[in-house]
Amino acid sequence: MSQSQDHTHILTTGGAGFIGSNFLAYALTAFPNRVFVNLDKLTYAGSEENMAAFTDHPRHIFVQGDICDTELVYGLFDEYSFQGVIHFAAESHVDRSIDKPETFIETNVRGTYVLLEGLKRHWEQKKVPPGTYRFHHISTDEVYGSLGDEGYFTEETPYAPNSPYSATKAASDHLVRSYHHTYGMNTVITHCSNNYGPHQNDEKLIPTIIRNAVEGKEIPIYGTGSNVRDWLHVQDHCEAIALVYEKGRSGETYVIGARNEQRNLDMANTLCAILDTELPLDGSSYADQIRYVTDRPGHDYRYALDPSKIEEELGWKARISYVEGLHNTVSWYLKKYNVKSI
Ligand code: NAD
Repeated sequence: MSQSQDHTHILTTGGAGFIGSNFLAYALTAFPNRVFVNLDKLTYAGSEENMAAFTDHPRHIFVQGDICDTELVYGLFDEYSFQGVIHFAAESHVDRSIDKPETFIETNVRGTYVLLEGLKRHWEQKKVPPGTYRFHHISTDEVYGSLGDEGYFTEETPYAPNSPYSATKAASDHLVRSYHHTYGMNTVITHCSNNYGPHQNDEKLIPTIIRNAVEGKEIPIYGTGSNVRDWLHVQDHCEAIALVYEKGRSGETYVIGARNEQRNLDMANTLCAILDTELPLDGSSYADQIRYVTDRPGHDYRYALDPSKIEEELGWKARISYVEGLHNTVSWYLKKYNVKSI
């Protein structure tokens, strides 16, 4: 992040959530000349606990509020004269989007629109060229739909979102794209695969597996467990985001993945095997608690990404191995759930 002015301000939305809080912890250390204004509504998915490591950091300013609140967002642009926006805030859980899509449409689509308008108004008021300030949208590989056994998503893959969640992420991507093409906004969009690591909300797959395992409950796996996800450690993702924000070409999209495909059942078994070592049961395995449950409606079969573009163009590569990443993740959640490993 090498823009000229010292202590330039960046609007970061969703910094109390899983990826946003990991990103701020990383970016506050990695970029000593940036002030991060963290706008987060603190929905059920965000928490002060996630921000504990940096809440009082002198270059972190927390604002509790809604990205859909035009007055608040415009006021923040006026107050801090942002050099850029890194937009994480979203409703992010597919199952919730199936039950109640409306909040997804409001936050993911309208919220993104309010931020785009805020940035456009900002360069108009400052009378600077449209490309002066950057807008980085954190999107998902799920906008590309589902793969069969072969092939990979790339930046060229046509959009085919299947869930209300991915449809709203696709819609917000299209808005970002349109602000680049129509108004000349300096945009980048990144599409990452499934993240794992510390601070993920308890409702997501990996925390659920670990928590249910140690509490002696059933470990629910959708369908037959054969769905494939391409797992990316959140720290690798955060480093990629910083690089794309700084060096990505305006108007471009980048897919971010670690070339790490796993069937859900295999991942659950690996987590159980780690727990068997860390916290042995008497004569049984945590894997015995795995139960197949009715599949999610419209469940995408396989996600897999080809990250060649970011690797070749920006020199990024995932560094954290799956085995090391999962071990660290298990240790982190055992501490969170107050369970002592051996
Ligand atoms: P998360 O659900 O853990 O966190 C979302 C954060 O946004 C929370 O802190 C929440 O309070 C905040 N928020 C929600 N609605 C808001 C609103 N209206 N105004 C202000 N703040 C609001 O999500 P995450 O897993 O950290 O995902 C971050 C981004 O990355 C999302 O845009 C998501 O679509 C994308 N993404 C996530 C993954 C993943 O594996 N977690 C994969 C691909 C893409």
